[in-house]
Amino acid sequence: MRLLPQGTVPGSLILIVPIVIVTLLAWQTVGAAMQGTVTHYLVMTVAVLAFSIFTGNSGILSFGHAAFMGLAAHITGALTIPAAQKAIFLPDLPLWLAQTEMSFLAAGLIAIVIVTAIAFLIGVPISRLGGPSAAIATLGLLIIIYGVIVGARDFTRGSQALIGVPKEIDIPVALIFAALAIVIARAFRDSLAGLELRAVREDEPAARAIGVNAPGRRLLAWTVSGGVAALAGVLLAHYLGVYSPKEFYFQITFAILVMLIVGGMTSVSGAVVGAIAVTLMIELLRSAEDNLNADVFGEPTVFGLTDIGLSLAILAILFWRREGLFGFWEADELIDRWRRRAASSEGAATQPAQTGTAAKIAPEGSLAVENVVKAFGGLRAVDGASLALRPGEIVGLIGPNGSGKTTLLGTISGALELTEGRIVLDGDDISALPAHKIARRHVGRTFQNIRLFVHLTVMDNVKVALAASGTRLSPGDMAARSLALLGELGIAEYADRRAGTLPYGLQRRLEIARALALEPRYLLLDEPAAGMNETESDELLEILGRLRDSRGLGLLVVDHDLRLIMRLCDRVVVLNKGQVIAEGAPGEVQANPDVIEAYLGKRRAASQAAPAPQGR
Ligand code: ADP
Ligand code: MG
Repeated sequence: MRLLPQGTVPGSLILIVPIVIVTLLAWQTVGAAMQGTVTHYLVMTVAVLAFSIFTGNSGILSFGHAAFMGLAAHITGALTIPAAQKAIFLPDLPLWLAQTEMSFLAAGLIAIVIVTAIAFLIGVPISRLGGPSAAIATLGLLIIIYGVIVGARDFTRGSQALIGVPKEIDIPVALIFAALAIVIARAFRDSLAGLELRAVREDEPAARAIGVNAPGRRLLAWTVSGGVAALAGVLLAHYLGVYSPKEFYFQITFAILVMLIVGGMTSVSGAVVGAIAVTLMIELLRSAEDNLNADVFGEPTVFGLTDIGLSLAILAILFWRREGLFGFWEADELIDRWRRRAASSEGAATQPAQTGTAAKIAPEGSLAVENVVKAFGGLRAVDGASLALRPGEIVGLIGPNGSGKTTLLGTISGALELTEGRIVLDGDDISALPAHKIARRHVGRTFQNIRLFVHLTVMDNVKVALAASGTRLSPGDMAARSLALLGELGIAEYADRRAGTLPYGLQRRLEIARALALEPRYLLLDEPAAGMNETESDELLEILGRLRDSRGLGLLVVDHDLRLIMRLCDRVVVLNKGQVIAEGAPGEVQANPDVIEAYLGKRRAASQAAPAPQGR
């Protein structure tokens, strides 16, 4: 039984322990002003972590989370300000609220629950958007909620400050909640849902193709991060005691984004260290500014050194380390890596590749394409094509460039919507299913232009597919299963590398291993040998043959390499201008005059016996 995902406890402790030591030391030694700075830093850490739970895992910049902080701050304010002060500053409150005087913990909890629910509702439409449009939507959200808070005068005093909110947050209290936020952020990042979302961040179509429900994962991250943002808002409210809606608008949003950019958007360690670095920098620059003004300039004083310094910090980070100080790694992962490097340089041997343990699946049923049309505007890229694929069979799909092969794979896998026709899987019409549902029905695919999650490790690329396919394995079994799949493709020794650092030939193999995690019955491969030399493509040929034999897979292989297609396939389907112009055994198809003509054009076809492999 484990409550938290693997890696969360050590990964959190490595951040929490130093923070606890340093801040508790500060609590005992430094003066009141400095204590304020430390408390403020801890509260900001919670805020940065809230942003990073969503932005870090989804890759979508959020401008909206400050709005959740503001909402929570005003809710907890309305519930905790003493009745005597409400009578003066908020005379129009409804009676029950005017008399409410809650403790900070109870009010904070209520604020967090309400704001989390609001975040969920707002997240439903936002999570359907991806990339820049989602970021713009969050910006709109910030502006709208700010307007709502200012507009709800009776409850918030409009744009004036709320006064008399009990000050409850000192270093120890802030420390407890900062530690809690670190654990939540790490637990989400390390969870399978978090891994799936990071895969979406790297490449959404590829993630969907292995069964990841991208909007669902985004919604989960958005809601969790909305809840943590509410916590940050509550803490900030009870730290400041006096605040206006402006406190939760653009300035704090940008301060937090600077912290994320400096530390590294995509890791929890980055968020925590970014908060420290920026807080320290602001303190140093402020005191430098004061000194400079006192010693050098005198009157008139010069303002803006802090802002200039922060801007320069961002520029420097963007120049030297675009991914922030921590890049895509967590502190504990970096330490692990150094340790393993040290160990392997002492000559440790790599593990032998394990072979597949997947059960053979009975060769029945079929995947049928029936009169499929896919039109892009006026162009019918696929124009009434039909074909069938059975388990245990390897079918080649060939045709000149632009004949619609990739488009056809896209319609089968659900990446593209059909214009006409149907796709039938074992008797069920799956034409209308989204990509991730088709993947979960054991139809896997690879992509012509390799689509790996380049910043995840080789192992995590496979693991995310295992997770998305709904296998309920213990973390240890999941790692073993991933290694076994990598072993089947002969790449187990690269398990700890970032996927993007492998040579292309191995990246293509990793794509296949990742697709195998779905336990596919049908696998669609788009030019798996593209860019490979003869030896590499021979090795691939052998691997594919083995997969068919050991797993009873139905393979649909698109390739330009006719040598490979002719040797590998039981049957070949030829596409030209979106239509099937020939189908049959490799030898037959190769001699078919229509095929020769399609490949070579009329005139040259007359003087050539067989189509030559096509260049790219
Ligand atoms: P192949 O994989 O056989 O080389 P494709 O399926 O990639 O061919 O392309 C078939 C035709 O459809 C081409 O004319 C191509 O320009 C067009 N096409 C492919 N994808 C799109 C798209 N997303 N939008 C518009 N046209 C497309
Ligand atoms: Mg193609």
